[in-house]
Amino acid sequence: METPWFHYPEYAWRLKTATVVGAGIAGHQVARHLAQRGWRVTLIERHAHYPAEASGNAAAILSPKITAAPSLGEHFYTHCFEYAVQQLTDIPVLTPYWHPCGVLTLCYRERDQVRWRKLKERDFPADVLRCVNPAQASKIAQIPVHDPALYFPGAGWLEPDFICEGLGFHHLIHYKLSTEAIHLKYRNAHWEVWNQQQQIVALSEALIICSGHRLNFPAVQDLPAMPVAGQTTLATSGTWGDQLRTVIDHEGYITPKRIRTDQGSCHLMGASYEPGNSHARYDPTTDQQNIQKQQCLPELAAELTPLHLQGHAAIRMTTPDRFPYVGAVPKRQAYLQSYADLHHGRHWKYYPPAAYYPNLFIAAAFGSHGFTTAALCANMLACLINNEPFPLDKKLVQALHPARFWIRKLKQEGSC
Ligand SMILES: Cc1cc2nc3c(=O)[nH]c(=O)nc-3n(C[C@H](O)[C@H](O)[C@H](O)COP(=O)(O)OP(=O)(O)OC[C@H]3O[C@@H](n4cnc5c(N)ncnc54)[C@H](O)[C@@H]3O)c2cc1C
Repeated sequence: METPWFHYPEYAWRLKTATVVGAGIAGHQVARHLAQRGWRVTLIERHAHYPAEASGNAAAILSPKITAAPSLGEHFYTHCFEYAVQQLTDIPVLTPYWHPCGVLTLCYRERDQVRWRKLKERDFPADVLRCVNPAQASKIAQIPVHDPALYFPGAGWLEPDFICEGLGFHHLIHYKLSTEAIHLKYRNAHWEVWNQQQQIVALSEALIICSGHRLNFPAVQDLPAMPVAGQTTLATSGTWGDQLRTVIDHEGYITPKRIRTDQGSCHLMGASYEPGNSHARYDPTTDQQNIQKQQCLPELAAELTPLHLQGHAAIRMTTPDRFPYVGAVPKRQAYLQSYADLHHGRHWKYYPPAAYYPNLFIAAAFGSHGFTTAALCANMLACLINNEPFPLDKKLVQALHPARFWIRKLKQEGSC
């Protein structure tokens, strides 16, 4: 067992019923992966529509994240990206809303150019990553590009509302909208979800918390996490905008002019990034800042006009190491008691296996890349719940484990 603090139990189910709290991309992916395994899933959402909060942007970029040298993060994001693209191709109702137009990441700062050179040396297959010069980048984008760039030909953007709708389109998934889960109670081997009016709104064997930045249930409120407010901006443009063929990513990003709005096709630009801010409030000056960020594409930037009041402001929840929380929900008090002397370096075999809340799981804190990572993370969670082999190696399962920060602190300081 070697790391009993990360050990997961085997589960036994009678009815295979689950409640998922939160109908963003994480909740939809978890619901879909469970329904595909024969689970009856109730998806609870506090808003009257979905996706409403972080997942409610008009478009989301899907791209791998490649670091200068191989890293656990690169391994995770690449694996997630490949899985997400496969899902978008395999489920016919999703495919029309996935636009693999390629993503060009501009390398305009000195440190980006160092990374560009290192990645060129790593010599990736051309269908994964090409390190291109400004002339090549301009040819790919079909607009003037003045910096070297990393080109991800298989990446692109998707339409979150249709993707969520398509994932939820399954006879074993049903929604309870305008329903806020206030209180979660485990009784008689079932999870009860209570609303504000003190009524039970869902009852199931398993419960999965996918509530985005609202990690205020007592079982998960001690998991370290930080809100980051952000806003996207829709904009019209002129002839350069009409020509843009790829997503261009730099300090911000801009999509091709293909986002459908009441006022015709637009670009989506994003996204502002305010760490520590947990108030999502639309602000027209942020639209100007999002346009300002496009200055490294001066010809296009000169044409952009924001569609005020049409941007979307929301909160992404992120963790100190940027990996999401995916797994069973650990019991903090039991961790503190069982592993208090981990910093003494005793052999692992003297420690009991980890303690968890019964049949309670989490898939949350997806930060800025939830559309890329939620699908594989949901598959991982569905494998855990169904006692199937994990689709991720042990290092990654531990990197996603909800108790990882407690364990790190207990090892260093004897407290957490
Ligand atoms: C401005 C911005 C731009 C972004 N751009 C990208 C991008 O281009 N590509 C990308 O991959 N990612 C992007 N992200 C990140 C991505 O949107 C998030 O990682 C992802 O949406 C998180 O999904 P989620 O389901 O965990 O959270 P959410 O989408 O926030 O969903 C959680 C849901 O739970 C509901 N809920 C919460 N508490 C309760 C309760 N008690 N009862 C009932 N319902 C509840 C909420 O109403 C919400 O609908 C962006 C994020 C922002 C904010």
